[in-house]
Amino acid sequence: MNLSELPAVSAPLPWQGAAWSRLQGQLESGQLPHALLLAGPADIGKARLALALARLLLCHQPEAGHNCGHCPACRYSQSGSHGDFRWLQPEGKSKVIKIEQVRDAIAFAFRTAGFGSRKVLVLEPAEAMTTSAANALLKCLEEPAGGTHIILACERLQGVPATVRSRCQLLKLALPSAQQCLPWLNHLTGSGDTSAELLRLASGMPLRAERLYRESGSDGLQARQAGLQALAGGEPAVAAVATLFGQLDPALALEEIAVFVQQYLRRQDAGSLRAGRDLFRLLDRLQALRGAVAAGSNPNPQLMVETVLIGLRDSFGKRGSNATMPTWTRETQS
Ligand SMILES: [Zn+2]
Repeated sequence: MNLSELPAVSAPLPWQGAAWSRLQGQLESGQLPHALLLAGPADIGKARLALALARLLLCHQPEAGHNCGHCPACRYSQSGSHGDFRWLQPEGKSKVIKIEQVRDAIAFAFRTAGFGSRKVLVLEPAEAMTTSAANALLKCLEEPAGGTHIILACERLQGVPATVRSRCQLLKLALPSAQQCLPWLNHLTGSGDTSAELLRLASGMPLRAERLYRESGSDGLQARQAGLQALAGGEPAVAAVATLFGQLDPALALEEIAVFVQQYLRRQDAGSLRAGRDLFRLLDRLQALRGAVAAGSNPNPQLMVETVLIGLRDSFGKRGSNATMPTWTRETQS
């Protein structure tokens, strides 16, 4: 997460009201644990919540329960130069949080607070810590330096060592409902229909929907959907559709294709699922490719998407004759 791109005042996201009230209540009563583990599905804003709490902890004059955005602490935390604030995440091309990063952060935690009375250390995603990094963090969790707050965020609880988990207070965050996300998405898209479609494509994960929209807007989304429907309907134009997907981050492209296939399968009755075996196999393959991309393998994205789309077209070609797909209109081909 690039801190300097976010607004000066870090408010929690609209669906995080209950979690935020709990944290604020703990802070006001002096019960905020020194180590907190935020756990929940991807792309629901765990890092945003961690940032809002970190900035509130550091702010010299909070306003209306949030950081003020203009005191010296807020200005430094926004520019990333706050001496009492560290944000640990995988750096550069690395997919892990290394022991050196954690050691450096611990040295920081045990130094006297330079700017205010608190220090804040955020680690996300916590599952990215190497085993040695997690072991190094234990020292800090066991003997916290006064005024130090450690906030970890993770998607998979079992990906965080039990020794770390047991020393943190767990705050579970659920996937928000569409009702909770849509007004927020509407601010971005200006259209309820587009927001609902984006959220559906993003499997209900609001920040993923936001990213999809920012990457290609609703026109790009509609063109890709029309392209997939055309391929499923037997159109041969794989390269043209692959080009549309080539503009997306490869992980997002694979996900969008997977959601398309899943939604098709969900709409089918048992009788027409006879030919669905190939589609389930395609989903397995998409899952494996997504894993490879997430693990940092760097395939040729255009080639990868083309191969997947050929598999999609051929799999749909074998489906039952009662499955009709809309045809690709000329407008979306141009
Ligand atoms: Zn402030």
